[in-house]
Amino acid sequence: MDEVLNGWVQLRVAIFVGIFLLLTLGEFFFPKRAKANVPQKTRWISNLSIVLFDNFLMRLILPLFAIEMAMLAKNWNWGIFNLYETPYWINVILTIIILDLIIYLQHVMFHAVPLFWRLHRMHHADLDFDVTTGIRFHPIEVILSMGIKIGTVALIGASPIGVLIFEILLNATSMFSHSNLNLPISIDRVLRCVIVTPDMHRVHHSIKEHETNTNFGFSFSFWDRIFGTYLNQPSEGHLKMTIGIKDFRHPKYLRLDWLLLIPFIGKISNYTLNKRNREEHD
Ligand SMILES: [Zn+2]
Ligand SMILES: [Zn+2]
Repeated sequence: MDEVLNGWVQLRVAIFVGIFLLLTLGEFFFPKRAKANVPQKTRWISNLSIVLFDNFLMRLILPLFAIEMAMLAKNWNWGIFNLYETPYWINVILTIIILDLIIYLQHVMFHAVPLFWRLHRMHHADLDFDVTTGIRFHPIEVILSMGIKIGTVALIGASPIGVLIFEILLNATSMFSHSNLNLPISIDRVLRCVIVTPDMHRVHHSIKEHETNTNFGFSFSFWDRIFGTYLNQPSEGHLKMTIGIKDFRHPKYLRLDWLLLIPFIGKISNYTLNKRNREEHD
């Protein structure tokens, strides 16, 4: 099992690095927005360091990955799909769709519950929006998220291959949907019928809270349409809109030490869903 797992981990890392480099090149040659007045070097060093830190910590605290749980569930006949001997490809496809739905619901929860928003707002405190934003998450959020995925995998008896495809897809689409790529509108329109595009997810990083609390999808775009959280475009347009959140505008918050501290400072702002001032936008 360890050998198979090592092979899969290596495949994941190789695909991650390949897509990261491709998108970085794309952002360099076809940028959508000019970079804001924040030090690019600080952002990149911090955002890339946090990924390494997240992965190191996760292996230490939560040695079981979702894919390992899927292999155990298969061996021990755990979970709905294993109990009912679901056909292989149906299990793979349903695993990908169900896990993506769980990630969507989890994202809504991270905005709705004040304590979770404290963790998730670190992702939103980035003052620019590019490929490195897509991998910048607080370690506690990453560990919680993996715990939720492991629980889901055990409950449904997810297919290991389905989990592997899902993890690669989530990683790739998260980098793609945060990239500063200037995609032609016609391509964006076709792509966002199925997957989340950079223009669609950029709305979610708007400083305006009624825009932040839309477009929660990570890989597939249809969850937002189904659950009524879809917003087509930001009110100020993609080039003029302000990225980030109101409470963390100082460039010092882009430093790695502050990234880790963001959940523990200040009060909860009115970004969480339950504190939204609806009248303001009616
Ligand atoms: Zn969010
Ligand atoms: Zn995001």
